[in-house]
Amino acid sequence: MQFVISKENYQYKCKKCNRITNLKSSELEWRLTESYSRTQGLENMYTASIHSRCRCGQEMGIEFTVWEYPKGVINCQDNQASGCIVLNKLEMKLDNG
Ligand SMILES: [Zn+2]
Repeated sequence: MQFVISKENYQYKCKKCNRITNLKSSELEWRLTESYSRTQGLENMYTASIHSRCRCGQEMGIEFTVWEYPKGVINCQDNQASGCIVLNKLEMKLDNG
């Protein structure tokens, strides 16, 4: 099931050789990682991660995190990149269908 959707693609850049890699955001596999009980119901945390290796040998990884609270609303989003730099921010929304 796809919880979080984005129609955009994103780009990230190798920290070592500056090569830019494109990836379709539809290739991200989201999963519900944690849920917290809050006053207006559950706060859900979704994560998706990618790992790849640049042609120069550099290992690259990005972990995307999205928090849903209250239900149906993206409260906050973040990404942690290692070995690379994320060049654009994804506009994400929740698929409640
Ligand atoms: Zn590289």
